Amino acid sequence: MDLERHDFELDELVERIKANDNRLVALQVPEGLKMQALEMMDSIEDDSGARVILAADPCYGACDLVHDKMRMMGVELVAHMGHSQMNIDSGMPTHFIPVTYDGDPELTPVLSILESHRAIAQSRLESVGDEIEMDEESAKDRFLDAVGRVAPLSGVKLGLVGSIQHLHLLEEFKVRLENAGFEVEIPVGGNRLTFPGQVLGCNYSGDDPSIGHYLFLGSGDFHPIGLVLHTGKPLAMLDPYTGGATEMSLDRVERILRQRFGLINSVDEANSFGILIGEKPGQMRRNLAIRMKRLLEKHGRKGYLLALDHVSPDLIDFYPVDAYVNTACPRIAIDDSVRYAKPLITPYELEVALGEKKWETGYQFDEIP
Ligand code: SF4
Repeated sequence: MDLERHDFELDELVERIKANDNRLVALQVPEGLKMQALEMMDSIEDDSGARVILAADPCYGACDLVHDKMRMMGVELVAHMGHSQMNIDSGMPTHFIPVTYDGDPELTPVLSILESHRAIAQSRLESVGDEIEMDEESAKDRFLDAVGRVAPLSGVKLGLVGSIQHLHLLEEFKVRLENAGFEVEIPVGGNRLTFPGQVLGCNYSGDDPSIGHYLFLGSGDFHPIGLVLHTGKPLAMLDPYTGGATEMSLDRVERILRQRFGLINSVDEANSFGILIGEKPGQMRRNLAIRMKRLLEKHGRKGYLLALDHVSPDLIDFYPVDAYVNTACPRIAIDDSVRYAKPLITPYELEVALGEKKWETGYQFDEIP
């Protein structure tokens, strides 16, 4: 990681610590910044006079704010890096630092991909309304088709989104894309998202029917996979770190859908389930977990509620149940299920397996609102 080109806003943090006269501060950083954490702790301690504790457990999002345990240690302020505030209250004063990156990639490499995606969106827009009655087999085929689902498209606008480090580029990119002939929308999502155009691995609530395809400014395919699973819409990616342009391959998404299809079928005969509840403040879906338990009971199956902070194979593989339903971070089931000894499915997938939801509505991503 090119640290020189990231803005860690340590001066603002030090100012706040001094203004509040905080004596003990916790620093929470994403995994990719852990190597640099000690250097940052030195700098904050030298400049502010406060003592800094690193919250050294894994941290993957703002859903995972350190809370009461740090308060018990006497921490007065949490500095949380790499994510923005979401609609949760950890009970601790928290200073969010988005860690923006100053890369400004060329638009040209991605234009041809965007043009081909707009053509796909246009043909889908024209076919909306051609619905036919489906038998079970056709419904399952549709489920496996990344772009074949029923999508209430009303337009072919380009949705411009990004990860937190690159959101400052969006307004400028909107102008550049409009100059290149695209009708562009920077989608505004729900309360879990802080900024227009922001996407999280578990929330794409800015999507609307007038958007026919997407451009994602960011690196890696974590957010793109979720966005395509959620919307079924074509997505191009432009990486501000490398300047590289690519697209989220539909083969990749269909491989994931095939895997989900297999897991849903594999719990057909399962009689007992562990229902995972995430203890992290922004992942805790207790009501959903209890609803899943009731649903299992209605279908003559057994569900055990298991609450965990971190979900991992060594913490659950040994329980004598047939399968797991995960109500913690949705990406644990989607991205990591191969690591688990037993089927690990989302609440929606359980509803399909029990016949409460239909295959023909297409895959529904497990979004946390
Ligand atoms: S719940 Fe998962 S995907 Fe959502 S913000 Fe937290 S770690 Fe990211």
